[in-house]
Amino acid sequence: MQAKIVVLPGDGIGPEVTAAAVDVLKAVAAQFGHQFEFDYHLAGGCAIDAHGIALTDEVLAICQASDAVLLGAVGGPKWDNPNATVRPEQGLLKLRKGLNAFANLRPVKPHPHLLASSPLKEERLQGVDLIVIRELTGDIYFGARKREMIDGKERAYDTMEYWDYEIERVVRLAFEIARQRKKHVISVDKANILDCSRLWRTVVERVAKEFPDCTFEHQLVDSAAMRLVTWPASMDVMVTGNMFGDILTDEAAVLTGSMGNLPSASLGDGGPGLYEPIHGSAPDIAGKGIANPIGTILSAAMLLRHSLKLTAEADAVESAVNRALSEGCRTVDLRRENALSTVQMTAEILKRL
Ligand code: NAD
Repeated sequence: MQAKIVVLPGDGIGPEVTAAAVDVLKAVAAQFGHQFEFDYHLAGGCAIDAHGIALTDEVLAICQASDAVLLGAVGGPKWDNPNATVRPEQGLLKLRKGLNAFANLRPVKPHPHLLASSPLKEERLQGVDLIVIRELTGDIYFGARKREMIDGKERAYDTMEYWDYEIERVVRLAFEIARQRKKHVISVDKANILDCSRLWRTVVERVAKEFPDCTFEHQLVDSAAMRLVTWPASMDVMVTGNMFGDILTDEAAVLTGSMGNLPSASLGDGGPGLYEPIHGSAPDIAGKGIANPIGTILSAAMLLRHSLKLTAEADAVESAVNRALSEGCRTVDLRRENALSTVQMTAEILKRL
């Protein structure tokens, strides 16, 4: 097959980890007889430096016309001034909105050989295999906000807003995914306090009727946060709003030992998906060649699976990563001594592909 993949390396370790994932995609193309075209563009802090804006309309249009977008990470101390009006993460938000990527999928399945890397006790991690589906285009990140002075006192507000259709499409996707797994959805909200969450519950109950073969439960976000570290094996498909999902997915990442291992996919209604590791630009290690490339390589596997529908190829990449980990390959976030560099780890994965 032929596919056009836009690569947005971004800032910090972004270029290092996307280079690793592109190497893997090139190897997949050669091995399975596909033609992938890679089109590189700026996003984040580097785009601010070049164009004064975190994502130009031109690059957004190129992404919209592609088959899939692979992103590294954006941001860093150079652009972290909280009072700046132009910020790297604006590029991400614009990209998600522009691609109508309303659902962020984050699978969490700790590798059996990495259980000791997690701060959780090993017995709590046995059998953990869950996926968090986070709504991505609504919620408090996009509602009305202001910072203002009133009678010499300063105040700020951000507004949580949801439309029923925004909730409906992500919840429906969660049930569709649940259907291919254990057929149970945990919907996470704060319905004891928030009207948005009460609307969320109404929509979940409505959509659930379309999936009589699946069960569901509502759970408040505070107790879901606790369950995630006390009994994560009891969770399979979790669906939640943008802000709760933002927080819970980082918490879930801890189960696997390192943020560096975790991929994500952001999907919409059939348009190009956006694939990125869950970690940030890691300025503390940028340029040292030691970043763990696995999160981005597994994001490329999700790209193969979800956007290009290349299941065997995605399986091959995931199994190469699993074997590299099973056979003791580790980057510095997983092992301090004798750690592999980004390039060495990528070579080990390629060897097993
Ligand atoms: P971070 O994820 O960049 O780093 C947190 C810690 O994890 C650091 O110690 C880092 O060295 C380590 N780490 C992260 N990824 C790693 C990898 N692949 N291999 C080895 N170690 C890794 O989070 P942060 O420090 O809170 O944020 C740094 C910058 O990244 C900020 O400017 C933030 O805004 C940005 N950020 C961007 C995204 C994104 O692009 N999606 C997400 C989160 C943070």
